[in-house]
Amino acid sequence: MTAFRKNLIDGEWVGDAGSRNINPSDTGDVVGEYASAGVEQAGQAIAAAKAAFPAWSRSGPLARHAVLKKAADEIMARKDELGRNLAREEGKTLAEGIGETIRAAQIFDFFAGETLRLSGEVVPSVRPGVGVEITREAVGVVGIITPWNFPIAIPAWKIAPALAHGNTIVFKPAELVPESAWSIVDILHRAGLPKGVLNLVMGKGSVVGQAMLDSPDVNAISFTGSVGTGKRVAAASVEHMRKFQLEMGGKNPLVVLDDADLAVAVDCALNGAFFSTGQRCTASSRLIVTEGIHDRFVDALKERMEKLVIGDALDAQTQIGPVVDATQLKQDEDYIAIGVREGATLAFGGERLDRKTPGFYLKPALLTEATNAMRSSREEIFGPVASVIRVQDYDEALAVANDTPFGLTSGICTTSLKHATHFKRNSEAGMVMVNLPTAGVDFHVPFGGRKGSSFGPREQGRYAMEFYTTVKTAYTFAG
Ligand code: ADP
Repeated sequence: MTAFRKNLIDGEWVGDAGSRNINPSDTGDVVGEYASAGVEQAGQAIAAAKAAFPAWSRSGPLARHAVLKKAADEIMARKDELGRNLAREEGKTLAEGIGETIRAAQIFDFFAGETLRLSGEVVPSVRPGVGVEITREAVGVVGIITPWNFPIAIPAWKIAPALAHGNTIVFKPAELVPESAWSIVDILHRAGLPKGVLNLVMGKGSVVGQAMLDSPDVNAISFTGSVGTGKRVAAASVEHMRKFQLEMGGKNPLVVLDDADLAVAVDCALNGAFFSTGQRCTASSRLIVTEGIHDRFVDALKERMEKLVIGDALDAQTQIGPVVDATQLKQDEDYIAIGVREGATLAFGGERLDRKTPGFYLKPALLTEATNAMRSSREEIFGPVASVIRVQDYDEALAVANDTPFGLTSGICTTSLKHATHFKRNSEAGMVMVNLPTAGVDFHVPFGGRKGSSFGPREQGRYAMEFYTTVKTAYTFAG
């Protein structure tokens, strides 16, 4: 077990009452013990962030660059250790955990660079003798609320741009993954952030998170999580007239056309639907397949699923780790049962697996003969469960792909330039992939979706600036 981890408030590590997190690959393994903040500590964190804002927002780019670069370097140097901790507390494989940690380092590195590229515009006014400057300023105290499925990358892609653009932060990570959150805050703190600039408040969403939503001193909230909580963030933010940004669910379609390269299509489906145990908002949960390739595709996918190694996340051979916890495992099983009740065929997997240690192991499940109207095709499952929906042709595939309350990512596997181009233009999603899995994105380009998936400006890359800054237009009459 690791040491007792405290919250960081106004530059001090504080807190006593602890909560524990367990390893989903081995429920007897307690990962660590963590302070659990209450409403009062959330208030102290917000006050500290507010007090630290004037100085930090006026700090020069070099001060911000130094902290972000130092953090990037330490995360990269410790990628194996941090990646292992991540896999231990969340259940994704060691390779996925290390990969995600490297991604976090790359994000800090990118935003270190951004601090030196901040710019504005100077334009002539329509009135002679008047000049106009358009600049971007920090927003203020930013509340950052994150989910459990990317314990280090999602905090990184919110914290890094918030700091780069001069904001101060109250960070509330998901209860299931405090170790990764604590590590990233510890690294930034030691990298030299002034007190109060970054505050960590681990604790319950309904307590600490809600206290952030209710505070008039939180000027912006960046949230990733469920649709239900996202709506609460939105309602509370409108009440306070604050900026907010939401990343929520997905029910992402992967279209496979008759002319697809079968091996590419099966690779995309296997990766997109089941890697990271299907616990990605970008997962391909609807495989929309045209008649001519349908049976070959299903047979080839089942063959590959049969070979997947499901086991302890920390075992180097493992390709699919356990589900994150008992609640999520039950949700996955419930949706498989719902799909079957509604008329789909459970063509592969779906049963719990026993391994050397007690854990939340589930054999990835494939539902075939599914329709797009089934609840299992409309609601986000967030597990290693995919549905195959049979369609006649491209036009029907596109219509089914777009017939969803969500719109995060979409994909198409085809060798037809005509269909690929048409799909890119007409898919109602924020991110479109051609001959690639729907999951797996770059860190230097915009991330986000449409409809019920996202709200507000895009995250990541230069586009992150839209959320973490506010525009000022200044007029000067110089005679
Ligand atoms: P998930 O199903 O991914 O856990 P949630 O929306 O429940 O999604 O959780 C995402 C984040 O939102 C977590 O950090 C959680 O603690 C937080 N959260 C949950 N309830 C609230 C709330 N009422 N106010 C603010 N944050 C909350």
